[in-house]
Amino acid sequence: MKTKNKKTALVTGGSRGIGRAIVLRLAESGFNIRLAYKSNHDAAQKVKTEVEKIGAECEVICFDISDYQATKSALAAKVDADPPQVVVYNAGIARDNLFVWMTRDEWDSVLSTNLDGFYNVMHTVMFPMLREKQGRIVIISSISGQTGQAGQVNYSASKAGLIGAAKALAREVGKRNILVNVVAPGIIATDMTSKLPKDQILPLIPLNRFGNPGDVASVVDFLCKEENMYIHGQVIGVNGGMAG
Ligand code: NDP
Repeated sequence: MKTKNKKTALVTGGSRGIGRAIVLRLAESGFNIRLAYKSNHDAAQKVKTEVEKIGAECEVICFDISDYQATKSALAAKVDADPPQVVVYNAGIARDNLFVWMTRDEWDSVLSTNLDGFYNVMHTVMFPMLREKQGRIVIISSISGQTGQAGQVNYSASKAGLIGAAKALAREVGKRNILVNVVAPGIIATDMTSKLPKDQILPLIPLNRFGNPGDVASVVDFLCKEENMYIHGQVIGVNGGMAG
């Protein structure tokens, strides 16, 4: 199938979990994919094969978003030559601990991946997107960034920071017809949440289940569609009714 005339979506953290679901959903919606990931080559290649089965192209790009130079080297030339119409900033990590026990490394690794990564990735893609005068950006935050979560002072700070950054960016680039929104998932069944005590958490979720990656992907997909003309600078909770 010829796919050269399709639009391109860049998805960070596309190799697993929520990012994988977003990649597949956007491929079904007609995008070619640039899938960025850190180190899990097998998982990335599997998603690439799944995307190609859908009939879209998938370029996998391996780099650490917390590393400014590595991000520029991996992305800058590609996005300059072929600017993405959609960017989903999804990659992220958690290193949970009560604040009194939290090590400097637990703080630094989460902030540098989740928040510095925003600068590294978004600053690299911004000029090429502005040139095109159109686009959709979706930032994956978390309910922890909205409410704060015990044991996640580092993670909550990074995810609240993303909300502020996305809202400010929305004010800067809206005039260029680039719509910027945030999706804030609750508890979604992925590798990141596989060790959580389900019996203690379910009573906190009015819908009485963990979300699926697809629950998040379908909202991201809508925000990226051309029919979304006016949702801009918003935080959309996907949390089964937990208070966001
Ligand atoms: P997973 O742990 O399942 O996947 C994380 C993805 O991010 C992987 O693709 C991983 O690549 C990539 N990644 C991690 N660190 C880096 C890095 N330094 N550089 C580049 N890529 C990196 O996470 P989820 O799918 O659960 O979460 C996705 C996003 O959603 C995260 O931002 C998370 O904070 C957020 N979120 C998740 C919730 C949940 O309940 N699961 C709830 C709320 C928000 P690789 O495969 O190579 O390791």
